[in-house]
Amino acid sequence: MQRENEPHCAKQKILRGACSLAKLSMMSARPFLTNEPPGRRDAFSPAAVAAALLVLWLIATAPAYAWGPTAHRLTNRWAVDTLPPEIRAFFQANREFLIEHANDPDAAMKKDKHERELHYIYLDKYGIFPYLKLPHSFDQAVERYGSGRIHRDGMLPWQVGKISLRLTEAFKTQNWEEVKLDAALLGHYVADAHDPLHTTQNYDGQLTDQVGLADRFEIRLVDKFSSFFMFARRDASKITDPTEYAFDMVLESNTWADHIILADREALIGLPDYNEDYYDRFYSQVGSIVVRELSGAANDTGSYWYTAWLNAGRPELPH
Ligand SMILES: [Zn+2]
Repeated sequence: MQRENEPHCAKQKILRGACSLAKLSMMSARPFLTNEPPGRRDAFSPAAVAAALLVLWLIATAPAYAWGPTAHRLTNRWAVDTLPPEIRAFFQANREFLIEHANDPDAAMKKDKHERELHYIYLDKYGIFPYLKLPHSFDQAVERYGSGRIHRDGMLPWQVGKISLRLTEAFKTQNWEEVKLDAALLGHYVADAHDPLHTTQNYDGQLTDQVGLADRFEIRLVDKFSSFFMFARRDASKITDPTEYAFDMVLESNTWADHIILADREALIGLPDYNEDYYDRFYSQVGSIVVRELSGAANDTGSYWYTAWLNAGRPELPH
C-alpha cells in the first residue's frame, strides 16, 4: 500500500538509477572521450557531461513499467477462474506461484537492457489506426522497417507469440516448473498488451506536457481503486493464432489511449496538483476502461494458457 503523496517506489528507483548511472557515466566516459592527463580527470569535460545527459535522457524517456504490480497480480489471479475443468485444478494449485511471478518480466528489465522493448509497441509510429503498414509477421516487419526500428518501437505482440510457443513446448515436454513460470510470464505480457498507454509513443504523457501519466494511470489509480474492481469473467477459449491475436489486443487497447490522455488533462483543470480530487475525477472517466482492460487481460491470459495446453496435445497435468 502506498501513502498519499509518496512517489511510487518503481519510479523512484528509475530516477535513483538514472542519477547513479549518470554519475557513473560522467566518471567512466571521461577517459575514453579525452586524452587529458590523469591529474586533470576530476573536472568534467563537455563530452562527459553530454554522455551523462544522454544516459539520463535515455532512462527518463524509457517507458514506465506498464501496469503496476497490483494489476499484474490481479490478472494472473483472475485468469485461473476462466479455465475449463480439465486444467483448472493444476492452475488453481499453483495460483499463488502465478501471482508471485506475475511481475518477473518487469524485474528482468533491471538486468537485461533488451527486456524493456518486449513490453510495449508504439503503434502510432506506423501511421494511423489500424496501422495497416505494419506487417504482423515479424520477418516481414523487419524486412520493411529494419531490425533496429522494430526493436526500438516495441516487440510486445511478437513477444506474446514467442512465450506462447515456449509454454506449448513446456507442456509437450511435461516440464511442469517451466510451465508454471512461462504461464506467469505470459500473463504479464498479455496484460501489458491490454495497457492502452503501452501502445503509444506518448506513453507517459511526455509529448503533451502530462509527464507522469503512466504512474497515475497504471499504478496509482489501480492501487487506489482496485478493491472496487469486478472481474467480467469469460470462459477460456482456443486462440487460433497467438501472435495475430496479440495484435488484436494491442489494437483494441490502443483505441482507448487518446481518451485516457484527454481525461488526465481534464481531471486536473482547476486543481493545484494531482490530489484526491484529481484521482476521483480521473477514475470517473477511465475507471471502466481499467476494469474492462484488466478483465480482458485475465480472460485472454486464460485463453492463452488453455491454447498452449491444447496445442501441446492435451497432456495430463500433475495433481
Ligand atoms: Zn511489463
